[in-house]
Parts: sequence; structure tokens; C-alpha cells
Amino acid sequence: MKSPLISYEHFPGDPFKNWIPDDETKGAFEVLKWSYETFGDSIIYACSFGAEGIVLIDLISKVKKDAEIVFLDTSLHFKETYELIDRIKEKYRDLNIRIKKPKLTLEEQEEKYGPELWRKDPNLCCFIRKVRPLEEVLYGIPAWISGLRREQSPSRAKTDFVNKDERFHSIKVCPLIYWTWEDVWNYIDTNKLPYNPLHDQDYPSIGCAPCTAPVKEGEDLRSGRWQGFNKTECGLHISGRILK
Ligand code: SF4
Repeated sequence: MKSPLISYEHFPGDPFKNWIPDDETKGAFEVLKWSYETFGDSIIYACSFGAEGIVLIDLISKVKKDAEIVFLDTSLHFKETYELIDRIKEKYRDLNIRIKKPKLTLEEQEEKYGPELWRKDPNLCCFIRKVRPLEEVLYGIPAWISGLRREQSPSRAKTDFVNKDERFHSIKVCPLIYWTWEDVWNYIDTNKLPYNPLHDQDYPSIGCAPCTAPVKEGEDLRSGRWQGFNKTECGLHISGRILK
């Protein structure tokens, strides 16, 4: 494995810090080119196959057509999400799309913690089914790509293009920080990209089926996630531990 030019241990800060991109991808294309030049085959895109994910897959395929993409399959996603992944695999045949499952099956989780853990302790459920699997994927990997956008939530508003990721001891590259929700859909429409049909049924943000509800007009785009809980993130984008 080629040594990356920057690493978690020697993170010099975001090399794009003072750059105001004015190209049509708002810097995403340049940041992706830099990422694959810097980290080569050692960078992974952890994709949830939401609308931002589709944009990133298309942009990544233009920079590195055999890039590695990982989907964290909790076994609880909507059937529409699994169908979309099949369509994406068909369209981008050279991409290396990998499915990563948690160590515990749903049955084993139920045996250990009782039925529907997501209703009792969604943090623990996310930890077992998303955070731990991503830890396993990123073990020994210097950098990963995420589709975070600054306008998504206050906790994402200060995201840089290149971030020191304390949670996973890695570098997290976020090429879409300047994209608006409208930009995302303009790109999908202009390029006629496949997307999850649930987006047309008032599901702007799509995660696991038990924890995702449609949103009403004017509500926050992520307000359909973990309704009834004081929880807005699955833990992949939070520094430090999410478990007590
Ligand atoms: Fe469990 Fe819900 Fe988290 Fe999915 S989103 S891993 S079902 S708590």
C-alpha cells in the first residue's frame, strides 16, 4: 500500500481551507481528484445510496472508475434501497461495490438484546449495525469519503472538504459540503441518474426502514429519522463514543 501524503497522525488541516470553488461541481470534482491522487486505492467511499450518494458515485466513477464503495447493510433497509443498489451496480459495472454486514444477524441481536432494539436503544442498535461495521471496514484504511453537506444540519455546518476524523482515526473527505439540496437534484435530473423512488414519496433522507418516516412540507430534511428520539445522527459522524 502506497503511503498517503497526509495521515490522521500528521494531519496538516484541510488543504482546501481557503479555497472558494467556482466550478459547476462546487469543488467536488477537484477534491475527488486530489483524494484519489493522494490516497490511491486506499480510500473508500461509505455510501448510503441516498440522493447525495448517487451524485458522488457518478462523480467518483469519472475520477476512478474502479473505486471501492462500501454499503453498510444493516439488514433493515427498504426494499427500494436494495433494488437501487442493483441498478447502480448494473450502470457502473467497473465500480467495486461491497456490502458490509454487521457481525450479529438480526436474530442474534434479538437473542442478545431483545426484539426491536431500535425502539429501545437506537444508539446501541446503530453502534452494532453501522458504527462497528464501519470501524471494521476502515481498519488500516487512511481515508474515507462521505456525502455530508453543510446545509443538512447545524452539526454538519462546519464540515470541511478534508477533516480529521477522530471517531474512526482516519481522514474524512466530504466533497459535497457546498452543495444545496437543489444542486443535488439538478445533478441527478440533468444526468438522468437512477435514484431511490422513496424520494418521490416525501422521504428526503433514507436510512433503515424502522427509523425513517416521510417528512411534511417545510420540515427539516432529516426530521424523518429516529422520530420520537433525541437523535439526529447514527454515530458515523459524531466524534468520540456514542455509547455510555
Ligand atoms: Fe438500528 Fe435504526 Fe440505527 Fe438502523 S437506523 S441501525 S434500525 S437504530
